Amino acid sequence: MKQEYREVYENMSFFGFTVEEWFVNTQSSFQKIECFRSKSHGVVLALDGLIQLTEQDEFIYHEMLVHIPMLVHPNPKNVLIIGGGDGGSAREVCLHTCVERVDMCEIDGQVIETCKQYLKCTATGMNHPKVNVMVGDGIEFVKQAKDNSYDVVIVDSSDPVGPGVGLFNSIFYRDVFRILTTNGIVVAQGESPFYQIAAVRNLRKAMQEVFPITATYLANIPTYPSGLWSFAYAAKTLSPKQFSQQRASLIASQCKYYNEEIHLASFVLPNLVKKSIGMNEK
Ligand code: SAM
Repeated sequence: MKQEYREVYENMSFFGFTVEEWFVNTQSSFQKIECFRSKSHGVVLALDGLIQLTEQDEFIYHEMLVHIPMLVHPNPKNVLIIGGGDGGSAREVCLHTCVERVDMCEIDGQVIETCKQYLKCTATGMNHPKVNVMVGDGIEFVKQAKDNSYDVVIVDSSDPVGPGVGLFNSIFYRDVFRILTTNGIVVAQGESPFYQIAAVRNLRKAMQEVFPITATYLANIPTYPSGLWSFAYAAKTLSPKQFSQQRASLIASQCKYYNEEIHLASFVLPNLVKKSIGMNEK
């Protein structure tokens, strides 16, 4: 097995790891699954050649994807995670003691099994008693879900390729709107502002067609393309800057990246991102 792993961008540049030990290199019914121990970042999971998470920095992505909506919502009890087959988002959601039930709909059971075996740091989230793990297409799940059934929906998907494509359009977000409660909030991982700005823009537009309140926020994720990653926020009533300081400082004390200041600062965008998602620059 090759001792170097490369994630290649547009066939012109790449980011990679020296591999210490290979665990999984297989084609599931949905995607190519690779999992290995790197010399520098611990265990790595890649899907269809795209790095999904590393043991060393997965906490950044999961803390920022989950705690922003969970702290803006005043009392999130029922949460839905689409994707998230590594368990990291479920782990972070369960830090919020107000949560009563987490439904998690991951399309690829082989991702779940791979993470349970080799990525215990995130897979623990799937063993929590409040978490109900289902294997299925999140698009179909949302279509069938009842009105007003979730306070927060977290779209922890892979990139807009393969099974993930349908999670980046307004048809999907119309269903998400319907299944959210009155003060419902949805967030989604939103791709790289440097390498996939069209995807960042299109996701924001898809949400804007459906939700009255939308925003884009950023985090530094060293092992994602360019090291800068975006997240898309949409809500029926609540601005992302309204959150309980008291709850946020309790959560922040359990986090390695998230804190109350970063919550606000993450919505401050560089001009090039503002321009490319159609916000006025000044
Ligand atoms: N949480 C990881 C991270 O730190 O970035 C990455 C996301 S997680 C591994 C992405 C998951 O979304 C994959 O396991 C993939 O199978 C799943 N997925 C993609 N399309 C989906 C769909 N339509 N329904 C449910 N899950 C889907």
